[in-house]
Amino acid sequence: MSKPLPIIEIFGPTLQGEGPLIGYRTMFVRFGGCNYRCSWCDTLYAVLPEEVKANATWMTPEQIAKTIQAYREFVPWVTFSGGNPCIHNLTDLITHLHWGLVAYLHRDARGPIKGTEMVLATG
Ligand code: SF4
Repeated sequence: MSKPLPIIEIFGPTLQGEGPLIGYRTMFVRFGGCNYRCSWCDTLYAVLPEEVKANATWMTPEQIAKTIQAYREFVPWVTFSGGNPCIHNLTDLITHLHWGLVAYLHRDARGPIKGTEMVLATG
């Protein structure tokens, strides 16, 4: 079985609120854990180790994919957010989703690249 990942929340369908896909319908998967400590962070509950420990549900890639796939017919995108999703090995999850991958990095206007988000599109 694939290694579980710390999931803070899975929600949607909702509208993407930022980036090149702003306004598009998407599901969100918020991963716990981040290797940065940005002063402007508004998701510390998904960043600080003690908060992640308290808030995360450890889900296998299969479980995450099953939750998201239920909405596939209605939602063309899946956004991986956090925390920083890129600190996790997402290979198994992406494989299970069978969705094409469109990835981009968010660059915060207040500083260098720190925040990261990944978006998956229906293949
Ligand atoms: S990279 Fe994002 S989630 Fe991590 S500390 Fe910075 S703003 Fe918060």
